[in-house]
Amino acid sequence: MDNCIFCLIAKGDIPSATLYEDEKFRVILDLGPAARGHALVIPKEHYADLFEIPADLAAEAVKLAKRLLPAMKEALSCDGFQLVQNNGEAAGQTVSHYHLHIIPCYAGKGPGAAWTPGELAEEDKTAIPEAVKKLL
Ligand code: 5GP
Ligand code: ZN
Repeated sequence: MDNCIFCLIAKGDIPSATLYEDEKFRVILDLGPAARGHALVIPKEHYADLFEIPADLAAEAVKLAKRLLPAMKEALSCDGFQLVQNNGEAAGQTVSHYHLHIIPCYAGKGPGAAWTPGELAEEDKTAIPEAVKKLL
């Protein structure tokens, strides 16, 4: 993917504020952070999203985030974290190269990624599990 910005960043062709790098991943600071220290775990191989990325590699991205969390917590003096991973335009994905957001949260500031809770419809309590289960 010659024109994919995250391919270029992950491979080091475009410089980035890098927290961590190995043969499979680069972890960089987000240019438009939701909070101080907002980082992105980016695989070096191009996969558009969670549908495309091999399950093992997606699991490795989460393992890497788990490894980074204590160091980031101490370095940033933050109080919590959100892991966010958007899939598809409707979900707010703006870069079509799989990435996992690590968003530090600070007490009193509210989470960087938040939603307004709705209400679980009575019929959905059975209809949705039934519909999904039969496709697994
Ligand atoms: P998405 O909305 O696709 O889940 O997240 C894309 C993220 O990448 C956004 O938070 C955006 O700020 C960040 N981003 C987009 N382009 C660049 C870039 O060139 N460099 C860095 N460091 N972050 C970027
Ligand atoms: Zn890419």
